[in-house]
Amino acid sequence: MSNDNKTIHDFDFEVICEYFSGVERQGPGSPEVTIKALNFIDGLNHESRIADLGCGTGGQTMVLAQHVPGTITGIDLFPKFIDTFNRNAAKLNVQERVNGVVGSMDNLPFEPESLDLIWSEGSIYNIGYENGLRYWRNYLKTGGYVAVSEATWFTNERPAEIETFWHNAYPEIDTISVKVAQMQKAGFVPVATFILPENCWTDHFFAPQVELQKAFLREKGDNKAAADLVAEMRHEAVMYDKYKSFYGYVFYIGKKI
Ligand code: SAH
Repeated sequence: MSNDNKTIHDFDFEVICEYFSGVERQGPGSPEVTIKALNFIDGLNHESRIADLGCGTGGQTMVLAQHVPGTITGIDLFPKFIDTFNRNAAKLNVQERVNGVVGSMDNLPFEPESLDLIWSEGSIYNIGYENGLRYWRNYLKTGGYVAVSEATWFTNERPAEIETFWHNAYPEIDTISVKVAQMQKAGFVPVATFILPENCWTDHFFAPQVELQKAFLREKGDNKAAADLVAEMRHEAVMYDKYKSFYGYVFYIGKKI
């Protein structure tokens, strides 16, 4: 397979895990955006139960922990991310109410209708947005909220190069109006959507990877999987810079009725 046709999903899990363990965030986002999304959610208190699905090393979870009461369970497939997550919770002294657990977002360890809020930044694509919303809804109390960020087209028509790139990476990418309709069909009142500002990609996602990529290549450049991953991540940054007026990440906040 030529590198042009490869997506992040085709790479060796170990290599991806090691690469992304070296940065604070594993997807586009920022503390300001997490707090903005949180502002659309009311009714949280010390009894609230929150899950952060596909939490990674917990960049956004630690922001949540500092701004909401209640307990937060982070779930991620990669044990190394969860180790870092729990170390970060201990550093902030929130380990009593913030706990990372290894698990899969399509097989949740919660009781039905037991959660007040499900959070998921840049992760629901792993099981598909529509599928994920329908499945996760079962675990929310009536009146509970879901808040997810998701890759989204800004326009109905796109240049072929970026269309192909996303078709390979995540064919479920779609426009804001389609995603809102899907959320409503899945049994949520769409409460808010907003586009993540560019700095969530540039300053918080791509920039921290630049030094990491150099070090990664110095240490593992002779490992083809590692070199390919760095090439792909650099390609993703070039694509974003070229086509950012056509797509980005969008936060979707919904309330279970
Ligand atoms: N929310 C974090 C991480 C986003 S990257 C952030 O915004 O920085 C996507 C995350 O989903 C990765 O940490 C990856 O390990 C995790 N992931 C992938 N498939 C998963 C699954 N089936 N269940 C749980 N986590 C998964």
